[in-house]
Amino acid sequence: MPGTEYFGEEEKKHVNEVLDTGILFRYNHDDLREGIWKAKDLEAEVRSYTDSKYALAVSSGSTAVACCMAASGVGYRDEVIVPPFTYIATIEAVIYGGGIPVFAEVDETLCLSAEGVEKAITPNTKAVLLVHMCGAAADIDGIKAVCDRHDIKLIEDSAQALGAFYKGKHVGKFGTASAFSFDFFKITTAGEGGVFITDDEETYLKADNFSDHGHDHIGDNRGMEQHPYLGFNYRISELHAAVGLAQMQKLGRIRDDKRRNKKIIKDILLEVEGLEFRHMPDPEGDSGTFLNFFLPSKDKAQEAVNKFGENGIGVAYWYTNMFHYINQWGHLKNLKSIAPMAIQELDLPQDYNNLHLPKSEDVISRLISLGIRGTWTEEETRDLGQKMKGVLSSVIG
Ligand SMILES: *Cc1c(COP(=O)(O)O)cnc(C)c1O
Repeated sequence: MPGTEYFGEEEKKHVNEVLDTGILFRYNHDDLREGIWKAKDLEAEVRSYTDSKYALAVSSGSTAVACCMAASGVGYRDEVIVPPFTYIATIEAVIYGGGIPVFAEVDETLCLSAEGVEKAITPNTKAVLLVHMCGAAADIDGIKAVCDRHDIKLIEDSAQALGAFYKGKHVGKFGTASAFSFDFFKITTAGEGGVFITDDEETYLKADNFSDHGHDHIGDNRGMEQHPYLGFNYRISELHAAVGLAQMQKLGRIRDDKRRNKKIIKDILLEVEGLEFRHMPDPEGDSGTFLNFFLPSKDKAQEAVNKFGENGIGVAYWYTNMFHYINQWGHLKNLKSIAPMAIQELDLPQDYNNLHLPKSEDVISRLISLGIRGTWTEEETRDLGQKMKGVLSSVIG
């Protein structure tokens, strides 16, 4: 559930501070802005929360992933291993960066598996774009070992995993660079927005330049400095950064609330025999945004989804009614675009219309997710848990 449930005076205060100066641009105008730097403050907050050396706030999670690709040196004709279960932005970032998405299997972690990645590697594989889906980390050790063994870069799409940790470290800290999203549906929202992180100075500087037409931002007069590379405009506005900053300062509390309510419901559903839960390589690191569970079969999952609907319980069934699984990406399978794209000229290692991903198909067709609100009262949460237990018991029993 989006961070809007936590909106309050803080968001307004930061936005008004920007409006009072009128400097909606994140660079320079030092004499007019009265010390108000929301994009910089948001970046400082993300650096501190994730313990990253560098953070760059940008216009969206999608553009943050694009920055990851470019700053990691992944581009034209490079094969990038991706999951078939993600938001389509992951795949688009590869394609518009000139690369070739290569689909590998996800498993019960809801993320790429080390085994799946290993099988998808070819001599042209340049990177793995690992997505930490639904608020928790993938099997990072397993996947990193495969990347290291084959000398492949690891890039993390952590757009859904701000507030998620793996063995004590924030996700996004395990590869060359990572992306977070502050879109309307994420744990913290700025309406639109994203943040790129890395621990490597050169990678940061490349993303910084790339996100603003290649400007190097040296000196105090943007526009008159050097521009060593071509880039594009992926800048965040100070208004969006102001909201993101207020949300970021609440993340600890949001995460605690969500984890508490998730545990209440999960404890109740643990009593349903035959119900299986998402495998989490590090349960303590979970951000708590989703409770994910598997029904014994695809038919049972569809039956449960219908019954949840009849009972007014809102769940996500990504397999058919969401835009997050490859079976709903006809445009991608047929590489349909408005204007010609580089990938349409390349020899592809996979036929996207005939992918063989039985494991992903099995896992995602049985998966149901409940978005957790942190603002539910204990009573509301228990009530929901009991109702869900009733539905699931009747379907599985
Ligand atoms: C939301 C999301 C994105 C894109 O973020 P936007 O801010 O919506 O552009 C990228 N990857 C994943 C996995 C996402 O969930």
